Amino acid sequence: MTVSDVTLNNGITMPRLGFGVWQIPDDEAERAVRTAIEAGYRSIDTAAVYENEAGTGRGLKAAGVPREELFVTTKLWNDDQGYDRALRAFDASMERLGLDVLDLYLIHWPLPGHGRYLGTWRALEKLQADGRVRAIGVSNFTAETLQRLIDESGTVPAVNQIELHPYFQQNAMRALHADHGIHTEAWSPLGQGRGLLEDPALAEIAARHDRTPAQVVLRWHLQLGNVVIPKSVTPSRIAENLDVFGFELSEADMTAIGGMDAGTRLGPDPDTMG
Ligand code: NAD
Repeated sequence: MTVSDVTLNNGITMPRLGFGVWQIPDDEAERAVRTAIEAGYRSIDTAAVYENEAGTGRGLKAAGVPREELFVTTKLWNDDQGYDRALRAFDASMERLGLDVLDLYLIHWPLPGHGRYLGTWRALEKLQADGRVRAIGVSNFTAETLQRLIDESGTVPAVNQIELHPYFQQNAMRALHADHGIHTEAWSPLGQGRGLLEDPALAEIAARHDRTPAQVVLRWHLQLGNVVIPKSVTPSRIAENLDVFGFELSEADMTAIGGMDAGTRLGPDPDTMG
């Protein structure tokens, strides 16, 4: 299974589909990451706050795939915002991951009330200029925080990783990203596997394509142009979530899923988080 790439705004490429490791304990992360890489994933999404960077790093090594074929993302946690703290936090993440160069570093949350994301962003710009990270981006940035970041730094983030699934479609943010050439990366792309995957409308589409609801949801993301990072620790689901490149949803299917937006978040609201 080969996953196609997107080209980020500084010319580097990133797989359209990767493996998320939130809530996987450190001692299980090695096996999960290795299983995912053996199944064909080449992009792994972790974060300092997941407390599994070390296990993720062991999984990357255990899989035995050349480093240049892998795309590794981690995120700077809220407590480490600010220029100096961000530089130190990056070093600590890299030490745990066992890597020299990171592919993508993200500010995890903007925390607008704390007012430190611009200083934090300058640290990420320096890390990129120093060749320690190949691309820099943000996560959970809103229209307002994203615009301020761009206006004041002049550096457009390569991605904004935001909550996005059929029950929370974020059409306004997707349009804003497109205007700036920012890639939309969807977190909780399967809606955390809760009610969404039992939705009868998805079941009907899935049955017609002889696919699972999870595959239909991931295919919907890909056809919209989103980068996705589904998570599972079950080997059969890890493989199933990658097997989404051999079928196509019709325009009617896309419209039907487009009509499922309930505007409800599963995770925190970035305006009030922190
Ligand atoms: P997800 O939407 O990927 O759902 C994962 C859950 O769905 C699994 O735990 C499992 O219960 C179920 N599932 C997975 N595959 C399935 C299948 N084929 N069939 C049926 N059920 C299936 O949820 P997530 O883990 O919240 O999000 C994915 C990744 O996004 C995370 O691991 C993390 O890397 C990232 N993330 C980032 C942020 C952020 O603030 N930037 C927040 C949350 C998640």
